[in-house]
Amino acid sequence: MADALRRLSRIATLRGDAPAAAALGAAARHSATLDAKALKAAFDEPTRAFDPAIASHIAAIARQGPAAAATAAERELPRDVAGIARTGIDLEALAAADGLHVAADLAAAWHERPMGDVAALLAEVRSGQSRLLLGRALGAVDLLVAAMGRAQPSLTLYPAGALRRFEPTVGDLLVLAAGDEPRAAVTAWADGLPATDVRWRSRDAVTFLWDGEEITLRAVAETALGAALVHYCGSREHVAQLAGRARERGLRLTPAGLVDATGRVRPASTEAALYAALDLPWIPPERRHGLDEIALAERGAFPPAVAVADIQGDLHTHTVWSDGRDTTEMVIRSARALGYRYLAITDHSPTSKASRTLSIEGIAQQAREIEALRPAYPELTILHGCEVDILPDGSLDLPDPVMAGLDIVLASLHDAAGQPPDRLLARYLGAMAHPLISVVTHPANRMPGRANGYDLEWDRFFAAARDTGTAVEVDGAPGHLDLDGHLARQAVETGATVVIDSDGHFAERFGRQMRMGVGTAARGGVEARHVLNARGLDAVRTFIADKRRRG
Ligand SMILES: [Zn+2]
Ligand SMILES: [Zn+2]
Repeated sequence: MADALRRLSRIATLRGDAPAAAALGAAARHSATLDAKALKAAFDEPTRAFDPAIASHIAAIARQGPAAAATAAERELPRDVAGIARTGIDLEALAAADGLHVAADLAAAWHERPMGDVAALLAEVRSGQSRLLLGRALGAVDLLVAAMGRAQPSLTLYPAGALRRFEPTVGDLLVLAAGDEPRAAVTAWADGLPATDVRWRSRDAVTFLWDGEEITLRAVAETALGAALVHYCGSREHVAQLAGRARERGLRLTPAGLVDATGRVRPASTEAALYAALDLPWIPPERRHGLDEIALAERGAFPPAVAVADIQGDLHTHTVWSDGRDTTEMVIRSARALGYRYLAITDHSPTSKASRTLSIEGIAQQAREIEALRPAYPELTILHGCEVDILPDGSLDLPDPVMAGLDIVLASLHDAAGQPPDRLLARYLGAMAHPLISVVTHPANRMPGRANGYDLEWDRFFAAARDTGTAVEVDGAPGHLDLDGHLARQAVETGATVVIDSDGHFAERFGRQMRMGVGTAARGGVEARHVLNARGLDAVRTFIADKRRRG
């Protein structure tokens, strides 16, 4: 009993509810002196035995039992705060050491003082937390942006953290809100949420459940927006490097701006202004890995990375003809709604390691279906393609005459067949040497959060792609995001052509998956000039025809 009351006291401390924390602490000490009979008597008349301020806690203990009541209260904390509660650290001492006024600021303090004790503690707590796939995170935040646009139209939302950097997995979902009176608008938003969904509220922020995920919304003043965006975007390593650069200039980097020796804050309303104050050009969020980007930026601004607006078509989509969910026509409509000029429909080949595949007879039927649909969509060129498996023996899963009848053929290695990297590379090199293969899809076959992907001799792979005129894919499906930024950078540095696809299996997700593909490519500094489907249809057809002619 005393233990549960102590845990509840700690949670009240974390919530910044000092009176409840003190009363629960006193109750813990008092209950420790009571034997079982006296304890029962106390609970029979709780308003006499305990401070009425904690009546709801005492009632919960009476109802659920002490341990369950404490655990339930913990579960209502934001993940970070619950993690801190479980570390067993001396909260008051940590708060005092960090000069914080209330322990409730601890989680927020991680953002304010990323280099301190709190940062180390939070990093440890977070390393034990599960991470969301980028697609899930983006889906939840897209819904929030849409809902907020209706509820608080004066606010502009800026997703921060790993989501803004298009990392394949996201730990915490943080969204900044700027605009007129952002604090009042965030408060109004929090007031409108079901109370049981609100995990945490402070002066500037609210943490709440949304679309099944925990999101923190934080108000930011327009004058501090640039500094806040840099600070909350991360990565931690990148911000640490910037903080070091600020120190060399006698400044301190904070979310409010750069603070000089006299304590004066120099606000930065744009990210560019903040970087400029550190004698750097603006560094795109997707490049803030904490690796060599600052050294690169010192030599000159990064050329603009490929953007969604550059994309003219999607060359990798699935329909009900294989394992996609939607019909050919729904897929076509989705591509048209995205403003694409062209679309390739590329279902799985007959013996692909996919849950559903297309037979050779099916390919002929599909060709007739596409032909019949084309006149209704004159503004969109519909290419009939196939994602053909490279089989374990290195052969392709369709006969040459069938592939030759398609507009575009993608090759992929869905089945590693337990082979070592040199065998996998040999399968790829063989496929790339084939004149009918125009693209290799998701080359590393990595699975974000689960598997790193093949450990190939990538320099040989990309050199072969360049020399054979085969494009290599950055696949935007959340289960792929492959090539990742690092390999995409190696691809373009080698001189290979990149294609960015949705690999969509659901028509309504094509746009989001393309955004993720583009963001992933941007992590590697891929520019529009490197990207096949940032070019017009004629250039795409020429790319395919040039290779076919070579054979
Ligand atoms: Zn595939
Ligand atoms: Zn696919």
